[in-house]
Amino acid sequence: MDQPTFAEAHRALDAGETTCEALVSSFLDRIDDRNDELNAFTTVDRDGALNHARYLDSQRERGNARPLSGLVLAVKDNICIRGYPVSCGSKMLKDFSSLYDATVIERLRDAGAIFIGKTNCDEFAMGSSNETSHFGPVRNPHDPDYVPGGSSGGSAAAVAAGMCHAALGSDTGGSVRQPSAFCGVVGLKPTYGRVSRSGLVAFASSLDVIGPLANSVEDVATLLNVMAGEDPNDSSSAPVDVPDYTQALTGEVEGLKVGLPDEYFTEGLDPTIRHMVRDQVATLEDQGAEIERVSLPHTEYGVATYYLLATAEASSNLARYDGIRYGFRADLQETKHELRERRKELQRELSAARTKGDDDRVTELEAELDDEQSALDALYTRTRTEGFGDEVKRRIMLGTYALSAGYYDKYYEKAQRVRTLIRHDFDRAFEDVDVLVTPTTPTPPFQLGEKTDDPLEMYLNDIYTVTANLAGIPGLTVPIGSHPETDNLPVGLQLLGPHFDESVLLQVGDVLTSE
Ligand code: GLN
Repeated sequence: MDQPTFAEAHRALDAGETTCEALVSSFLDRIDDRNDELNAFTTVDRDGALNHARYLDSQRERGNARPLSGLVLAVKDNICIRGYPVSCGSKMLKDFSSLYDATVIERLRDAGAIFIGKTNCDEFAMGSSNETSHFGPVRNPHDPDYVPGGSSGGSAAAVAAGMCHAALGSDTGGSVRQPSAFCGVVGLKPTYGRVSRSGLVAFASSLDVIGPLANSVEDVATLLNVMAGEDPNDSSSAPVDVPDYTQALTGEVEGLKVGLPDEYFTEGLDPTIRHMVRDQVATLEDQGAEIERVSLPHTEYGVATYYLLATAEASSNLARYDGIRYGFRADLQETKHELRERRKELQRELSAARTKGDDDRVTELEAELDDEQSALDALYTRTRTEGFGDEVKRRIMLGTYALSAGYYDKYYEKAQRVRTLIRHDFDRAFEDVDVLVTPTTPTPPFQLGEKTDDPLEMYLNDIYTVTANLAGIPGLTVPIGSHPETDNLPVGLQLLGPHFDESVLLQVGDVLTSE
């Protein structure tokens, strides 16, 4: 799919061949055409986007064009835009609106970006297929029987279907890169700390990062220029200078050392994807890059480590959804009624046990009656039972278990140690090479429903992406063609680089996508 880029729009705007209003209108038409089928957007801000476009056009007429004037952006529904819903794909936040702008939103708006709507995603960004959203699954624009990937599936589908120039997603274990690969677009997971997380609804705070998705590497570089940099509202954002990322797009890879990690090309990898990635590596070699095999020996522990740490952090972050402060609240009268009924039932059982002289049962029932939940506790329980979907509950239970007394050392602490080993693997590899090339996913896109009954299968799809989050390094996925045995669905190649070296990823990604 050859979809519109901001770079072209920017040129056309400068040449007076189009207006911001015309750009927004054409994207709105596209959304009207395809969103019913794809379910990529949960909110479309028709009037807001058109009004902002007209304002930018009038500014341009006065000679006040901004660097991103006319960039039409979709935003994952776990990133706050003041006054917009921020559902996180969950019933829990279905009717909740943001009270403030995320830092990236402020920066992008100041630079002239237009927000066209919020995109559907897996519930609280937990998933690899965009099938866990309360608002229904997103479909792959290349073939609606297939998943778009997740959790930023709506963002990837919107970009791939030409419903916007670019989109924002969040990446905790692959959620920008995996859906980008499945939909055939470019997606960047910046270094942890490179982009402010202020205004991103937390999933796993030591792993979360906001990243851009677009139809070209150049557009991703342009977006990162505005998004990156320290932010006083996010203490984990790093005080590291931000280069001009578009300067990295030299079109050359001569002399660059490219590493191929053995562990990313083992038996679980689809053979066609393996060949396609190898072909790209051959192209880099033809253009003067030096190719080297490297080893990242702890890769095999990535998925287990990620799913322990991410769920542990999620169980703590999601404790705030108690029905009191945010969004959905279960019905209080019903909850009280249920409590009263339960109490009556226990009392009936107690008198029956006394009549029978069943002393053990009497003690048990008396204890249960003493221990009765307060109405407030019952309201918490009922709210969380009704408000969260199955996948989110599974994660909260896993995470709470991993953090509980007696298991903390065995699971959580051990996972932290393995995380360090994984990070050291990368540190060592980057002593020898400038960049690593891997597949983004072990398989091409799969069909809707194919993996929903087997969470472990679903988790294994993240094998090549979770390690970058564990190590905090940046990762970029670029489309490298289509998969002939899977209805010609897109395949992605992943580039991994040292901390804060997004430039090298953009440099190589640009070469791979500009033949
Ligand atoms: N697929 C991974 C998960 O389900 C990653 C999600 C993400 O990056 N937000 O946790």
